[in-house]
Amino acid sequence: MDLFEKCSQLHPVVELMNAGFHAYYRVQQSSPDAEVVVDGHSMIMLGSNNYLGLANDPRVKRAAVEAIATWGAGTTGSRVLNGTLSLHADIETRLARFLRRDAAIFFTSGYMANLGVISSLAGRGDCVVIDRHAHASIVDGAKLSYAEVKRFRHNDVKDLERVLESCGESGKLVAVDGIYSMTGEIAPLPRIVEACRRHGARLLVDDAHGLGVLGRHGRGTVEHFGLEDAVDVIVGTSSKALPAIGGFAAAQQPVIDFLRLSATNRPFFFATAAPASAVASIRAALDIVEQEPARRRKLWDTTRRFLHAVRGMGFDAGNSQTPIVPITVGSIERTFEMWKGLTDAGVFVNVVLPPAVPAGSCLIRMTLTASHTDQQIDRVLGALESIGARLGLIPGSGRVSEEVAIKRAG
Ligand code: PMP
Repeated sequence: MDLFEKCSQLHPVVELMNAGFHAYYRVQQSSPDAEVVVDGHSMIMLGSNNYLGLANDPRVKRAAVEAIATWGAGTTGSRVLNGTLSLHADIETRLARFLRRDAAIFFTSGYMANLGVISSLAGRGDCVVIDRHAHASIVDGAKLSYAEVKRFRHNDVKDLERVLESCGESGKLVAVDGIYSMTGEIAPLPRIVEACRRHGARLLVDDAHGLGVLGRHGRGTVEHFGLEDAVDVIVGTSSKALPAIGGFAAAQQPVIDFLRLSATNRPFFFATAAPASAVASIRAALDIVEQEPARRRKLWDTTRRFLHAVRGMGFDAGNSQTPIVPITVGSIERTFEMWKGLTDAGVFVNVVLPPAVPAGSCLIRMTLTASHTDQQIDRVLGALESIGARLGLIPGSGRVSEEVAIKRAG
């Protein structure tokens, strides 16, 4: 059989697009901000990971422009050979200091960081133990390691203990997300740390969605729980709260030295280093994370208000405790109806389907940012209430629209 045959078959996503549900690959004609332009229309953006609203910050953009003028457009090589600029060395020192670790290593993306770190630290004969909902890059890193990959039930520490027990005397690496990207749940790190200690396992936390967001200083899930000395490796990305491209891992010096020198760290060795513009943006964004805690406070004020309102209306927002707000709708069809309603109302959200979620639990994923205004949030809540009621997802008391109207009148 010709393996290209499948390419000419109608893909379900194309079928949906043909039916008018353009939920994927939507082309934006503006910079990433609280409102974006799609097909010439302004939309409130609830589908980004721009948590602190820094992707369009003038200081972050200026840093990129200046870096291009000084360092050029690209690095044209791997960190190991010709791709390391003093900017890369600086950002590693800055990130290590920010995360209170000995050292850090900077990759070209967060995906590559998980791939490289996990596949270097674990190998044949070891066990990599991952949460069932772990991000794809954790799953792929575990596969690439040639270690035995075992999964435990999502956020279930008892099950983690059972799986660790089954690993016997093998070397053990537990890898979890700090915040789960589709559901906004926080990993129960204190109990995971204890389980790892009891079983002699090392712990890696991928805090792609926690850094800059959680913790008094924005140091993420680990700071949130006061576990800065208890987690062996923190992986982060510079594509979300720190808005450019790149990823990193921070750990004790010998671990970082090993990752720099071990050719099993293939995503680090065999890929071109991130351009100066990205690294300079990240450095500028990190300054803002450290100097402007008010952004984080604003994000959390908006998050608390939004979660309270959607739950008050009767939506199922699962166990989210963070700016990632999922609304479980159910079937694919109804989820697309909900998406269409929100799109028509000028709200940009993401549709999450299996295999990212179990069949029948399709959801609308929304993310809040520090740059959303109260008025924008009110408009989104009004749209959610009327569309949710129309689809029979919530009783639809009209309470939110009334509150918004009263506020406007006041
Ligand atoms: N880990 C998690 C939990 C993520 O959500 C993502 C990206 N969505 C990544 C890793 C990969 O990071 P990047 O996009 O920077 O490659």
